[in-house]
This record gives sequence, structure tokens and C-alpha cells, in this order.
Amino acid sequence: MSDTAASSQEFHADVAVLGAGPGGYTAAFRAADLGKKVVLIERHPDLGGVCLNVGCIPSKALLHAAAIIEEAKAISQMGVTFAPPTVDLDQMRAGKERVVKKLTGGLRALAKQRQVRIVQGMAEFGSPHHFTVTPPDGGAPITVRFDHAIIACGSRPVQIPSFPTDPRIITSTGALALADVPEQLLIVGGGIIGLEMATVYSALGSHVDIVELQPQLIPGCDADLVQVLDKMLRKRCRQIWLETKVESMAATEAGIEVNFGGKSPGTGCYDRVLVAVGRRPNGDLINAAAAGLTVDARGFIAVDAHQRTQVPHIFAVGDVVGNPMLAHKATHEAKVAAEVIAGHKAVFDPLTIPAVAYTDPEIAWMGLTETDAKARGIAYEKGVFPWAASGRSLGLHRDEGMTKLLFDPVTKRLLGAGLVGPNAGELIGETVLALEMGADVEDLSLTIHPHPTLNETIGLAAEMADGSITDLLPPKRRS
Ligand code: NAD
Repeated sequence: MSDTAASSQEFHADVAVLGAGPGGYTAAFRAADLGKKVVLIERHPDLGGVCLNVGCIPSKALLHAAAIIEEAKAISQMGVTFAPPTVDLDQMRAGKERVVKKLTGGLRALAKQRQVRIVQGMAEFGSPHHFTVTPPDGGAPITVRFDHAIIACGSRPVQIPSFPTDPRIITSTGALALADVPEQLLIVGGGIIGLEMATVYSALGSHVDIVELQPQLIPGCDADLVQVLDKMLRKRCRQIWLETKVESMAATEAGIEVNFGGKSPGTGCYDRVLVAVGRRPNGDLINAAAAGLTVDARGFIAVDAHQRTQVPHIFAVGDVVGNPMLAHKATHEAKVAAEVIAGHKAVFDPLTIPAVAYTDPEIAWMGLTETDAKARGIAYEKGVFPWAASGRSLGLHRDEGMTKLLFDPVTKRLLGAGLVGPNAGELIGETVLALEMGADVEDLSLTIHPHPTLNETIGLAAEMADGSITDLLPPKRRS
């Protein structure tokens, strides 16, 4: 390795990256590919951060199992019946771990090929030009000196201080660990994490209750999209309480006793409680003041469009710089930071960052939402294609989906898109590209989408907007 270690406990890097999640490893790899000598610091033994180890990837492996269980039930409509599934939790856990290990192992190999030195331990700033890293075995601290640093320290689940500390009260990490299938599971928080885990555990056989503070699940997402998911979840969960909160929780021998207040007051006793009420950035854990950096009260570190912090040679990317806390935002910010350090004129200026809930059905949206347009008084035209008229969707025995496109009434340019239905998350990418390319309604309606597919619903929603639809009556003729 070309690294010049002044001693075994001290390294110098052109670029030191704090955190090896999607933001951190992308920044490190891009900087190395641009000729920089890079040290990547990570507290956990495996690279990949929350996303690969205890987030996006293991949850998708479990959601796949849940989808198969539900599809096996649903295919009875076609005269195919299976016996109820038996679930070997050890094998399910091992299957999920295999997926994770394949990816984290791949990252380690890629780091080695790029001669990125990995230092394991908990890093803190010691000055504006060095990190002090405490190794996991508590051994002598390691000093990593740097010309530039990229902070990619991520976020952690929000804890509610009044809740008791008890192993039966878990976060997403605990839910993904799949210790058992609780008979009675309460999920506090009807956001994306809560609903993805409701999808998994209801399929595995838990009685799931969800309690959400706001008047709808996934607050902020358009109500017409969420309504479709809400209806499906109510068939699979026992109760979904909106505008309701947990007043108190007590850990007893019988279980976790919960008092609810708000719109649906009452009590319940649960084998496990998953708390999924948001994530908090880790900016407060890195002694940022030693580098002259300000961390706001919520734990965020401010950056400009080049990902540069207030200290010009220190950059930051991912969850710690602001919402949305999504891996695909972090990876793009990371490339910008590495490229700017290498002297490129890079800037983070996407028109949109898509969001996906990998529930069943999935919800995906990007660009302007109707909720936002109404709140901000932005004029728009809308094209909606119901999947009940999609041959492909009906072939899947699913008729609840919907594709919605919003256009500028004057220029006819695409402003936003929202989809709900199986595989919505796979379909949203086309609309993101269309928005970034400045596509208008005809660009979408005249693009020949393959038939029969779910992606043709995007072209058909554009046809609903420009009135050229033939698969349904054009909205204007109908009215
Ligand atoms: P979230 O902010 O998306 O949802 C939290 C929910 O909890 C909100 O609906 C909120 O109203 C509710 N809530 C807050 N306090 C409450 C209380 N005391 N009682 C009841 N409800 C309460 O947070 P999350 O689901 O924990 O996800 C955290 C982050 O991780 C988000 O930024 C999310 O975008 C990201 N994430 C993304 C994906 C994905 O892209 N598929 C998956 C998982 C997580």
C-alpha cells in the first residue's frame, strides 16, 4: 500500500472519509479513482453502513419473502393453492445475512483494489486537520491526518426518552434482526420504516397494530396514493390508529403495556414494540467543534452546493447534511464532494430525489407532489391512469394501483409523478429522467412503451393529460 504511515498508529491521507455507508464508501472510492490517497474510517467491522447492514438491503430481502407468502395466498384466485407456509427463522435470517455479506464483502474487495486504507474505530475530530480514532478493542487511539475530510457519519433512530429501556422495545435494527415472530407487535410510527416492517411481520404471522401521530400514514405523501396502501394494510394488520399517540409504556412480565391517547384512546399489551418515529443525524457524535464546525440543534451540519462545510477543506454528505435521509441522495452528494476536492467543477443540483416505500403495494413519488402544489399555490394539470385498466396489472390480479403525472399548464412540462402499485419503485426512474431532461406531456405520451407492462401506465397517464387516451375515455369527453 502506498500509504505513508508515520507510525503504526498514525496515517496521513489526502482525503479522510468518516463513515463507510453509501455516502462514505462512494466518496472514498471516487476520490481514490481521481488519484487521491484515501483513508476510510468506520466503527463497524463491515463496510456499507446502515443501508447495507441494518437498513435498505436486509429489509428488501425480508420484504421479498413476505411478498412470496402473500402471492402464494393470492394465487388461489387462479386455482393454485399452497399449504400455509412454514417459516424456518434461522434459515430466513441466514438468507438475509448471505445477501448482506455478499455486498459488504464486495465493498471490501473494491476498497482493496483502489488501495483505500480502512481504519476501524470510532472517529472524532481532534483538530481541523486530524481525526482521533478509538479502535473497537479499546487499544491505543489512531491518528488520521488529512488535507481534506469528508464527513459521512449518517444517522440513528430517534428514541423517545419517556419509553422504558427493555429488549422488547426495538428499533428497525432489532426488527431486522428477526429474533422471533412476536404474536402481538405494536409499531409506533406510520412512516416508511414502520410500514415496511408491518408488511414483513404481518406476512410472517404477527398481529400488527400501528399507531401514527398524524392524520395519515406516510405524512407528506399524497393522500390518494397513501389511501391505496392504507386500505391494503388494514386487511393485513389488526388495527391502524391515526391521530393517536402513545401516552405511556410500561415493561411488565406479561408484555409491554401501552396507553394510547388522542383520537383512539385505549390500552394494549404487546410482545414487542417497534419504535420507528424518524432518524436523527449523528453530527453530535464527532466532536465537530474541534474542527471549527457548527452542528445545529438537530445534529445536522450545513453544506453548500459543493458539499463544502463552513471549514473550506472539510466536506459532508448524506443523512448528516439534511433530509431526505436516503442512500441515493448520499451517493450522489459523495461524488460531488470527491470531485470538488479533486478540482472538478461539480455541484449537487438535482431537480428531484425520488422516494419509495417498499410496502405492498409500493408507493413511489418524485418532483412536485399535489400536496406541495396545493400548499404553495402552484398551478398544475394532472393525468391519472388507474391500473384497473392495465392488462398487465390485472394479470397480476392487482387492480388497486395508480399512476399520476403532474404537468405545467403552460409549458406542459412534467412537474412531478406519483405511483402506487406493485413495483412502483422500479417504475419511478423513468419519470425522474423525464423531469431531469425537461420532458413535456407529449414526450411521455408519444414514447412507445412496451405492451403489456406496468411502465406503459406512465405513457397512458400522459395520454390522459393530453387527451389522446383511447384505452379509457379522455377525461374531458367524460366530463
Ligand atoms: P419517518 O419520519 O419517515 O416516519 C416516522 C413517522 O412516525 C411519521 O409518520 C411521524 O408522524 C410518526 N411519529 C413521530 N412521532 C410519533 C409518536 N410519538 N407516535 C406515533 N407516531 C409518531 O421515519 P422512519 O420511518 O423512522 O424513517 C426514518 C428515515 O429513514 C426517513 O428519512 C426515511 O425516508 C428513511 N428510510 C427510507 C426508506 C426507503 O427509502 N424505502 C426505508 C426506510 C427508511
